[in-house]
Amino acid sequence: MCRLIIVSNRLPFSIDREGDNIHIRQSSGGLVSAIKGFFDKANSHPAITEKLWIGVADFPQEDWQKIMNDQGATDFEIHPVFIKKQLYADYYNGFSNSVLWPLFHYFFSVADYQVQYFEAYQKVNRLFCDELLKFIKPDDIVWVHDYQLMLLPQMLREQMPDATIGFFLHIPFPSYEIFRLLPGEWKKCLLQGLLGADLIGFHTHDYVQHFIQSAKMVLGTDNYFHTLQYQNRLIKVDLFPLGIDFEKFSKAARQSDVQEKYAEIKNNFADKKILFSVDRLDYTKGIMDRLNGFEVLLDKNPEWKEKLVFILNVVPSRDEIQAYTERKKQLEEKISTINGKFSTISWQPIIYRYQHLPFCELIAFYLAADVALITPLRDGMNLVAKEFVASSSNKQGVLILSEFAGAASELNEALLVNPTDVNDVANSILKALTMSAQEQTQRMVLMQRRLQEYDVIKWVNEFFEQLKEIKKEQLKLIVKRIDERVGNKICRDYSDSSRRFFLIDYDGTLVPITRLPSEAVPDETLKEFLSSIASDTDNHVAIISGRDAGTLANWFGHLPITLIAEHGASLKMKDGNWQQLVTIAEEWKEQIRRIMQMYVTRCVGSFIEEKTNTLAWHYRNTQVDLGFARSRELINNLSQLIQNIPLQVIDGSKVVEVRMAGVDKGSIAMRLVNETEPDFILCIGDDTTDEDMFKALENATMASKVYTIKIGNKATAARYTLYSQQQVLPFLNLIKSCVKTPPGHVSS
Ligand code: UDP
Repeated sequence: MCRLIIVSNRLPFSIDREGDNIHIRQSSGGLVSAIKGFFDKANSHPAITEKLWIGVADFPQEDWQKIMNDQGATDFEIHPVFIKKQLYADYYNGFSNSVLWPLFHYFFSVADYQVQYFEAYQKVNRLFCDELLKFIKPDDIVWVHDYQLMLLPQMLREQMPDATIGFFLHIPFPSYEIFRLLPGEWKKCLLQGLLGADLIGFHTHDYVQHFIQSAKMVLGTDNYFHTLQYQNRLIKVDLFPLGIDFEKFSKAARQSDVQEKYAEIKNNFADKKILFSVDRLDYTKGIMDRLNGFEVLLDKNPEWKEKLVFILNVVPSRDEIQAYTERKKQLEEKISTINGKFSTISWQPIIYRYQHLPFCELIAFYLAADVALITPLRDGMNLVAKEFVASSSNKQGVLILSEFAGAASELNEALLVNPTDVNDVANSILKALTMSAQEQTQRMVLMQRRLQEYDVIKWVNEFFEQLKEIKKEQLKLIVKRIDERVGNKICRDYSDSSRRFFLIDYDGTLVPITRLPSEAVPDETLKEFLSSIASDTDNHVAIISGRDAGTLANWFGHLPITLIAEHGASLKMKDGNWQQLVTIAEEWKEQIRRIMQMYVTRCVGSFIEEKTNTLAWHYRNTQVDLGFARSRELINNLSQLIQNIPLQVIDGSKVVEVRMAGVDKGSIAMRLVNETEPDFILCIGDDTTDEDMFKALENATMASKVYTIKIGNKATAARYTLYSQQQVLPFLNLIKSCVKTPPGHVSS
């Protein structure tokens, strides 16, 4: 049983005032109906017992008591955040709508990077956090919405490390090239802010990729597909295209008020085709380009004059921001120009309205329109496009949709246009006007099916499901951490054993990863430690590495330890000589080297490391994203090349290696285990190549005294994890001391 706390800039209601009386009316907007719809479906989420909503109070503090008295009018327990007027203006009109909104919609020249805006943004996010902390409980699910509150997840995480936090961005996340235009500190804060969440949702696959790339470039986060790793936490990033309440729109045509309005519109334009568009007054909506396209249509196709009307409804929005008011003027001038140019005594091509449409009128227009012209220059999703499709009860009507709207990735059967290409827009209108009824139906049916399947309830459901999943994943890793109890058990088993076998990886385990492999030289402390642990005759210590035999011999040849080089291609038992376990004809190297060399040229900072049986292409020191992209290409390239050759390509940590198939740390580890028959095994490593030994050892017969330990918090076959390389030596030291000191004092 838990509570859901929705956090958004706006509260889910509007206020009606009659004299001294105040009544609240629940909004019918996208998010409110999504959440409500989800809970209305019987038993859709029995585990959530209460719904709370926190948002900015757009009413004076003295009205709060009256509003509280009327709380029954909403489905949510309301928690308002009171913000001073100037602070709110700098946070909302300032940072949110004059920096983030234009930049994230690719209008970078409109962005106004004022320092006081960012400071206000931080303060308001902090106020939200403070308010939340007053009533949040450990089991609550917090779902933060949109670009106004991108810092909040991290602020909350700092105070409540175990909180369940989801975040959804309703606008596009721009490509890194755009995002990087933000001042350095701001972009870092925004990304860190979001990474405080457990799950971050976006509308489309592109936005997800852009976010992952930005996090990689700015914060150096690692990712495994859609799972990111940041500050020892796993964070899931995924796409959840916002759906609509399909049922509500598909049934709306039957409402009598809708039918009345519909009849009125049809009657007024009885012999004309109707083109319809409705959007907020916003430069992202592409209204000017749309008008240009319409003008080209009329210029090029005079036969459509008087047979067509364009009903252009613009909804007032953000009129406190100058960029908005100026554009309104320009739009109105353009409309007058077109009407002036083409009107006749009995016909005017554009009917322009500047007002908010009530639901019944909006639906009547959706139904009456022969063509919906929805051509934003950028739009996170665009619900109007989806609503138009869902409302079409007779499966007629054509949707012309901008390819730059998030909705375009789901509505393939629309006529997709580039909104700035006036000829494309004009031609698409013509195509729509002349499309056969049969084709209209075919397209509509397919789009409606998709919208019905992934409706708004599914959207909420999938978000919660994924949130649950990532929490489980995080828990698995925590469960694997070596805590005091496990440490004590390892200690006991160690002291009870007399044939102990240590299999220890080198880079990233005994020493930290460095820029160049040649920099990771063992110091005296490490050598002394290895020497002392190996001096106990009950211990057999093996270093198992991807390094070549020469390097290992040089560093550790004098110590009584076993050395395994190049992942098992050569071996030196502690009291023996080097043996070459595989011999590969040299010719393969030449070809692979040539390809790798090409990648060295194409990717500055990368280099080839050559060992007896391995060739490795390192990309740790390259520009993060380029190195990663090139490594994918190289793996692809090499995998095809070696298809019929007994070689394998290994995708390591910032390194791509090619070596003999069948040589891996797992096989050699098992061979040594079988030969030496230990009664205690401790195997520790950090890399993908170490997973082979973890897997192999998990199947070893004396499984209860086998301890496989992975460093870091990526998914692993190892039974336990330590979360950083710095913990390795202290941990091994503790284990080593267990024979002499009775168990009970070990912690990780
Ligand atoms: N809408 C409305 N009345 C209007 C115009 C629009 O209720 O006069 C609603 C419309 O039904 C849609 C939302 O406003 O649900 C607009 O969402 P969209 O994603 O298309 O654009 P946004 O305004 O969020 O950028």
